[in-house]
Amino acid sequence: MAYKYDYLIAGSGLYGSVFAERARAAGKKCIVVEKRNHIAGSLYTQEQEGIQVHCYGPHIFHTNNRDVWTYVNRFALFNHFINCPIANYKGQIFNLPFNMNTFNRMWGVVSPEEARAEIRRQRGDYDFENPRNLEEMALKLVGRDIYEKLIRGYTEKQWGRPCSELPPSIIKRLPVRFTYDNNYYEAEYQGIPKGGYTAMIQRMLEGIEIQQETDYLADKKPLDALAEYIVYTGPIDAYFGYCLGPLEYRSLRFETETLDQENFQGNAVVNYTDRETPFTRMIEHKHFEFGTQEKTVISREYSNEWQPGVDPYYPIGDEKNLTRYAAYRELADRERRVKFCGRLGTYRYYDMDQIVEQALRDS
Ligand code: UDP
Repeated sequence: MAYKYDYLIAGSGLYGSVFAERARAAGKKCIVVEKRNHIAGSLYTQEQEGIQVHCYGPHIFHTNNRDVWTYVNRFALFNHFINCPIANYKGQIFNLPFNMNTFNRMWGVVSPEEARAEIRRQRGDYDFENPRNLEEMALKLVGRDIYEKLIRGYTEKQWGRPCSELPPSIIKRLPVRFTYDNNYYEAEYQGIPKGGYTAMIQRMLEGIEIQQETDYLADKKPLDALAEYIVYTGPIDAYFGYCLGPLEYRSLRFETETLDQENFQGNAVVNYTDRETPFTRMIEHKHFEFGTQEKTVISREYSNEWQPGVDPYYPIGDEKNLTRYAAYRELADRERRVKFCGRLGTYRYYDMDQIVEQALRDS
C-alpha cells in the first residue's frame, strides 16, 4: 500500500517536533496531528502584556549534552536565565536547591564542615544505607529540619501521597551542595528561548503539515491510513483504551492573573513548601526573561490527581504503576507500525533535554 506520508506524528510537543524536524531534514514526508488548538504541547508559551507566559508550567531548558544544546540553538536564541528558585515556608525565605545559603539560613552554620556536621547530627538514626522511599532519602541527604520545612509539605502537595510511599529517585533530581551556589541545575548549558518556546517549536515545524484540533485516537483509523509509521506521543494507556486499567498521573492546574504592578515576588519561581498553602508554587513569568514591563503576570500552580478529561503531566513511578506500564509496553511492542515516545508515551519523568536527545537518536 502506498502511503501519502512516511510519518504521522501524533502530538506537537518537544519529542514530536524534534522528530518531525529531523525526519523532514532526512527527506521524509511528515504530518503532525495535534489535539489542542495550538502547537508545542506543554511547552506552549503565549504572549500576555508583552510577557511570554508558560501556560503549562515553567520550563527552563538545561543540559550537559552539547549536541542537544547546539541543536536547540538552531531554532531559538537562548537568554542567560539561571534558575534560582526560592522556598517560602510560612513567610521565611530559603534558597534552593539545598546549598550553603539554605544551611546558613536554617542553622546559622557558615562553613561546609559545620553544615555537614549539622546534617549528620540531624540524621541521627536516619542514616539509611539504602533508602527505600523519598522520606528516607531526604532524611539521609539533608536531615530532619530541611525535610520538614522544605520537602515534606511540597512533595506531598505535588504528588498527593505521603513521602514514605514515593520513590527515592524523585528527590535525587535535586542537588545538595556544600557551596554558596543557588543554581538549581547541574547543567553546563541553561536558558530560555528568547521570544518563547512556541516560536522555537514553530521554527522546528516549518514546512511540515500540521493539523490542529485533531485527536489522533478519536480518528485513528483514517489517520493510520495516511502514513507508513506512526509516532505516538500521547499517553500509552489511552492508546490501548485503558484496557489494563489506567496508569496514574499527576495533573496541574494554573490560576493565572495579570497584576497592575511591575514586580510582585522578585523571582521567577517561589515554592510554597508548607502543607497549608493550597498551591505548590507561584511563577512570575517576566523574570524568566528579565522583563521590565509595567505590568506582571503570575500563575499559582496547583497539583491534582489526574482524571479522565484533564491533561496528564507527571507519571507516577511507583511499583503498581510501573508494573502496569510494563504490561502496556508488551502490547506496544506488538504494534509494528507505531512507536511510543515522549514523557507520556513511555510513562517516564523526563527533562526536556532527555526528550530532545531521544528524538535525535530515534529519527
Ligand atoms: N522538592 C521539594 N521541595 C522543593 C522543590 C522540590 O521537596 O522546594 C522535591 C519534590 O519532591 C519534587 C522533587 O523535589 O517532586 C523534584 O523537583 P523538581 O523541581 O525537579 O520538579 P519539576 O521541575 O519536575 O517540577
